[in-house]
Order: sequence, then C-alpha cells, then structure tokens
Amino acid sequence: MSLSITHLGTGSRGNSTLLESKDAKVLIDQGFSGTQLEKRLGLLGISPQEIDCIVISHHHGDHGGGARIAQKKWDIPVIANERTVQELDLDPMKTQYFEALDIMKIGTDLSLLAVPVPHAGADNVAFVISHLGERAAIITDLGSWTDELVQHVRGCQHISVEANYDAKRLMSGPYPYSLKERISGRGGHLSNDQTGEFLSLVCTEKTRSITLTHLSERNNQPHLAESTVLYYIDEVFEGDIHVSSQDGPEITHFIGSDALEKKQTLAELNR
Ligand SMILES: [Zn+2]
Ligand SMILES: [Zn+2]
Repeated sequence: MSLSITHLGTGSRGNSTLLESKDAKVLIDQGFSGTQLEKRLGLLGISPQEIDCIVISHHHGDHGGGARIAQKKWDIPVIANERTVQELDLDPMKTQYFEALDIMKIGTDLSLLAVPVPHAGADNVAFVISHLGERAAIITDLGSWTDELVQHVRGCQHISVEANYDAKRLMSGPYPYSLKERISGRGGHLSNDQTGEFLSLVCTEKTRSITLTHLSERNNQPHLAESTVLYYIDEVFEGDIHVSSQDGPEITHFIGSDALEKKQTLAELNR
C-alpha cells in the first residue's frame, strides 16, 4: 500500500497538494478558485466531492483563499488552526481545529503532524504525513527553520519544500527595498541556498524524492533552484528531484512499501 502526493500547482498564485491513500483523499491547502480546483482535480479523474477534507497551513490567499468556496460549494470539511479559521472566516459548522504539534488522524491509514514555522503575520505550519510507518513532509512559506522542524522532517521518504528565490536575482531585481527585506527576512521565504542548507540537515539515505515548490516567477528559475539545492545535498541524496510549477497537476510521488513498483509503472506509462 502506498500514499501518493501530487501538487496541483504551487506558487504565489495558488497552492494545493493532493494526498491519496487507500482510505482517504486529502488536500493540503486550497489557494485556487473553485473552477481551478475542479479543473485540476478533474485532470486526475477526481471530483471535488470525493475529497474527505482540506487541511490549511495558513491564511494567506495563495494557501487558504479557496477554503471557504470548497466548504460552500461541495461541503468539504476544513481543518485549520484558530488564527487561520478566523482570518479566512470559515464556516464553523464545517470546520475542525488543530493546534501546534497536534496529530490529525484521517481515515484509517493517514496522520498529519502540524509543525509551526516562522512566517510573518501568519500562524503557519508545515505538515509531516505518516502513512503505514513511512513519512513525507510538505513545507512552504517560511523565512527560516527551527530545530523542532529539522527533528520532525529528518529521514522523511519524500520532502516537498519551497525554494522561493535566488538571492542575487531578488537583490538586483526591481522590488522596492522594503519588500526585498520582507521576503528575505526570518518571516519571509527561503532562498535556494537556505533550502539547500535545510535539506542538508534533514536528508538521509531514507529520502527518495524531493520536490522544490513555490518558486518566485520573477526572482527564480527552476534550473537555478535545482542546481543550487543539489550542491548542498549531493553527498547524501541519491533520489529524484523535481521542481513544481504554478500550473499542475504534476508528477506524483509515492511513499510506502510498494512505492518503487509504482514508480516503475508510471515510468512505463510515460514512455
Ligand atoms: Zn504565506
Ligand atoms: Zn505562499
């Protein structure tokens, strides 16, 4: 049995990631319009009504902006922390709460741990997903990391983490100084170098796949993000690395005992 992880799209114009186990279909974040969500799930042969719940990392529009629409249009339950629920004005009848370091059990085979991350003006969390003894992490929108995050993410089989900007491009680009400071500050986003450094702390021989997400369209390029990060983890990481774009759905990663077989099947299909 394996768990599949598919990014429906990541970036400042919307984020959502589908987790699918034998028993549950869960979205992490819903930063798309109803139409966009329906379209992107439709490309995977899934209708929004099949989604068991949506878990929201933080209230920024590109992560939570479509949560209320999903509650209204399809009655999908949303799980979020108090600040996020308040800021997004979620329907209390269709909302459940989590607190920092809570473990949420979804279906019989999936659990999500919410780990706080520094992100200015929001109570943002990263999610560490457990599925039948294997783990994956979805981490985005953080200006820096904590020892706690490193501890929980270390050794995950799959890691999705933002690589938001190339420091040189950001600093020499057209953004006003105050915005450059905000993006690169402790509560902003991770640069390619910071993401590389973080990954060098959490990658082990168990890590089989990495997806770099939430790339700035103006201050980054997929090849820059990938090559910078690989420089930091070259010696420990031998798996697959991918860069997620704004317009998904994209390549699906699997974790679990039959994940290797599944990957082969996908490769065959793509031939
Ligand atoms: Zn954010
Ligand atoms: Zn974001």
